[in-house]
Amino acid sequence: MNTEIPYKIYLSEEEMPKTWYNVRADMKNKPAPLLNPATRQPMTAAELAPVFCDELIQQELDDTTAYFEIPKEIRDFYKMYRPSPLVRAYCLEEKLKTPAKIYYKFEGNNTSGSHKLNSAIAQAYYAKKQGLKGVTTETGAGQWGTALSMACAYLGLDCKVYMVKCSYEQKPFRREVMRTYGANVTPSPSETTAVGRKILAEFPGTTGSLGCAISEAVEVATSSEGYRYVLGSVLNQVLLHQSVIGLEAKAALDKYGVKPDIIIGCAGGGSNLGGLISPFMGEKLRGEADYRFIAVEPASCPSFTRGKFAYDFCDTGMICPMSKMYTLGSGFIPAANHAGGLRYHGMSSTLSQLYHDGLMEATSVKQTEVFEAATEFARVEGILPAPESSHAIRVAIDEAIKCRETGEAKTILFGLTGTGYFDMKAYEQFNNGTMTDYIPTDEDLAKGFASIPQQ
Ligand SMILES: *Cc1c(COP(=O)(O)O)cnc(C)c1O
Repeated sequence: MNTEIPYKIYLSEEEMPKTWYNVRADMKNKPAPLLNPATRQPMTAAELAPVFCDELIQQELDDTTAYFEIPKEIRDFYKMYRPSPLVRAYCLEEKLKTPAKIYYKFEGNNTSGSHKLNSAIAQAYYAKKQGLKGVTTETGAGQWGTALSMACAYLGLDCKVYMVKCSYEQKPFRREVMRTYGANVTPSPSETTAVGRKILAEFPGTTGSLGCAISEAVEVATSSEGYRYVLGSVLNQVLLHQSVIGLEAKAALDKYGVKPDIIIGCAGGGSNLGGLISPFMGEKLRGEADYRFIAVEPASCPSFTRGKFAYDFCDTGMICPMSKMYTLGSGFIPAANHAGGLRYHGMSSTLSQLYHDGLMEATSVKQTEVFEAATEFARVEGILPAPESSHAIRVAIDEAIKCRETGEAKTILFGLTGTGYFDMKAYEQFNNGTMTDYIPTDEDLAKGFASIPQQ
């Protein structure tokens, strides 16, 4: 066994995954099905067809097929920026004086700056294969919209992005990257859709939310010929595509005989975390190995740690299928001072079920602590992390410090989902000492819970 582990473990092109892994296939308790909000019956493929691409619907509804072949066209696209490096954080370990061995899988090495491109290219590919003209979507912080714009430009598809208005105004450069890749970007809520006009009439001056932008994007997709809607997180199909992260990480660790004790990821809608842990969770579900999995979420948007496990709407307009998930309610609006991403009210139904069954842990962290960890990490490892990713860094550092105290040399793997160059306003607040923490009170959360439909 080679004990000298390099700073970066790469895979060759031949070693890159040729299939995605569907963790649902190994789950005894499957995630609950999507429901039709009108009938409260499980959505059929035919009912989903006006919204999503056909092949993606098959992936969405398939709880039994463990492996899906990654089409060659997608594997070729992946080769432009994958395999992503698995880094041994020697410098961070030294700084923390910890006996822990820390690894991170870095997904920020592409223009979108995040892991979202892994699913964007897959979703755009199936849309193209179906002969569609284009796709619509929403974007919050902007990474998903950027990734989708890149994928659509590559395949020659039209791309309409509804961008949460406050991000549209705060992140003009993100918007321009999307436009450079040919996307049409509209601030949401807008006057271009019925649901947008309704929301604007009800809440004049609102700066929008992800749930609102989703409603607009779905309306445009279902009312325009040759268009479908695509989503960058939460859905089972997205977790499936993101399993490439975990499969690569596992292949790289296996080369050196390394087995992580703890696997950590930030959780917004759950796609990077789900993708990172999938192959490891598969081993745990099949009784072949054991791991601790930790989902990290912001204290200001605590879906897992303080949410309810219930059927809820995925969007503000209540036009999408209902999903059983840990949720704060589709009416939940995160605090305005929250800078660190991960603001979605709900969570992947697959991760929700795994968490509910005690197979995964979750914890929440405050944003000032997240930015402290981000800064510490940037100064020793060089990479300027996205605020979202820094939630995972925070908990990885905390676990490594515990190892220093107990003397245990645990192996920690975390997902470094992206870079933070477009988040310098938030870094500026942190550097100026003006960043604050907001933890919703039970009364604040009760307002969101009131929007969860009767079960
Ligand atoms: C979107 C995003 C996340 C959170 O989304 P998940 O679906 O929970 O993975 C995390 N980090 C970065 C950099 C992102 O762009």
